[in-house]
Amino acid sequence: MPERPFSHLALYKMLPHSNCGRCQLPSCLAFAASVAAKQKQLSDCPLLDEQTKERVAAQLEGRPEQELYRFIKDLSELERQIAGLDLAVVALRIGGFFKDGWLAISVLGKKFAIDQHGQVHSECHLIPWVKTPLLAYAANPQHQMPTGRWLNYRDLPGGMERRNLFASRCESLLKDLADRHPGLLHDLAELFHGEEAAGFDADTALILHPLPHFPLLICWQAPEDGLESNLTILFDACCGVNLPPQMAFSLCIGLAQMFEKIALMHRTAA
Ligand code: SF4
Repeated sequence: MPERPFSHLALYKMLPHSNCGRCQLPSCLAFAASVAAKQKQLSDCPLLDEQTKERVAAQLEGRPEQELYRFIKDLSELERQIAGLDLAVVALRIGGFFKDGWLAISVLGKKFAIDQHGQVHSECHLIPWVKTPLLAYAANPQHQMPTGRWLNYRDLPGGMERRNLFASRCESLLKDLADRHPGLLHDLAELFHGEEAAGFDADTALILHPLPHFPLLICWQAPEDGLESNLTILFDACCGVNLPPQMAFSLCIGLAQMFEKIALMHRTAA
């Protein structure tokens, strides 16, 4: 993937400027340079809140900031919609369950709960790229059960418009990770209760459920005989009904970011 131009001074401007040293570096400026050089991660600064982290990540990835602001607006609107819903009815529709006023739902095999104010609770670390699609999934009045028919992102309703971004931001990132850490996809299957699928033209075919009725199929073909590796993310046809395409896109970015962190831990543990 080509490197994007990036100024560590631009990143420095978004840091807390407290020079507290909790990132194990003497100053915020040193931290900014270290993140730019990929020696530190944003999560190494405990004073950065989620919103700032997303702003910084947008800066690093060359994403337009409007995208983030639209996202935050979507989140507030979704919380308002959830407040007006009967969560017991929603649970039945979307494959969750309802108990003591909470809608419980499985995200990648991990437990999450939504309260009547649209607040999401989980033992797992929550990032906006996952939280917003989760609320959109719960608030969506339309719902379809998985069909077993797999589609490319571009074939989802509205997917054509963002297909190139999806390929560069999600598929390429995951392909690079799988190339550098060939055991990673098997580990993800174990960690997130995925299933390895047979019958696909791929060295590894992995089905994951980021949401109960939102199955993804990740197919990775290792490099061979001078041919480059290939990674494709396919969606069950029901995904196009159960989430709007921009939310499917956000969810995959969230997953790609999460997997990148796991791959970094792989590298550290190796
Ligand atoms: S932990 Fe954060 S605030 Fe403290 S010095 Fe490092 S970058 Fe600056």
